[in-house]
Amino acid sequence: MGTFNFPISVAHRHLFQAGNKRIMIVIVLSVILAMLGSITLATSAFWHKTSSHLTTKTFITKHAVVPTQKPILVRKPSLSPSRPPTHVPLLAYPLFNGNTHLPEIALTFDDGPNPYYTPQILAILQRYEVKATFFDVGYLVEDYPNIVRQEYKQGNIIANHSWSHPQLTLLSAPAMLSQITSASNAIKAAIGVRPTFFRPPYGAMNRTVLAQAYYAGETTVLWDDTGEDWKLPGVGLIVSKILRLARDGAIILIHDGGGNRAQTVAALPIIITALKNRGFHFVTIQQLVEDLVTPPSQSAYSNILSGTKISLTSTTELLAWKRKVYT
Ligand code: ZN
Repeated sequence: MGTFNFPISVAHRHLFQAGNKRIMIVIVLSVILAMLGSITLATSAFWHKTSSHLTTKTFITKHAVVPTQKPILVRKPSLSPSRPPTHVPLLAYPLFNGNTHLPEIALTFDDGPNPYYTPQILAILQRYEVKATFFDVGYLVEDYPNIVRQEYKQGNIIANHSWSHPQLTLLSAPAMLSQITSASNAIKAAIGVRPTFFRPPYGAMNRTVLAQAYYAGETTVLWDDTGEDWKLPGVGLIVSKILRLARDGAIILIHDGGGNRAQTVAALPIIITALKNRGFHFVTIQQLVEDLVTPPSQSAYSNILSGTKISLTSTTELLAWKRKVYT
């Protein structure tokens, strides 16, 4: 008989030694049946929560290895470094959230890379097996390319947050485009791939900003859920606000740079655990866009189309950047 490595505690190994194999076979079969039952229950719970466009085939495509069969309906797994982005539509309008009928949430980190906080956040993401999106600042990418490479290596998406974090609405169109393309060049130099997503600093944008991002080949991504961690309100408030706003398709904004992010680092495991317990799957922005059934409607941002500026999300964030508080 070959080596039997069934994971069983030392305390129970005497059952094998006693030669009572029949009892053990019954126990092993029971365990296998119980595991199959759990999987069935988990699968049906997943179906119940997700929308009708997710079929059995898409579920199998995402969660099982079927080497001989090419998937027809594709719900791709999150990007890994060996799989460059494909089939991701470029959106002309900003994205505030994903599919509101799928239990998916995208964690997005702005203002890094930061040599002190980003590695702590990456360690947490790795521990909880969560993929996220990093909206990195170009000159910091140039300063800390190894951190960006680590972000990418872990399967996260690297996105564009301008070259030097200015308020783009105050700049000329060529200067806006230069901010976007310079950051993209820095990201390409660091990881070999150009970003396809852009977030304007402070969320400040107008139709010219949108047009320049689109011209650069990048979809503008905003957010609909934040704990306003840049205000340093305390771990409890960051967590409670994010959990209150969390919903299917939410895009969460938090920061790995731009100031003291100790509260964000402390809040992150609590947020991830709570949202996982509520049945949410964490996805990258790329996955979120792939899972959109219909593109965002124009009515949601008619103020942008009419040329009205979107007001700054937070003057505190602006001030924090101007002070350049790094600890
Ligand atoms: Zn920012």
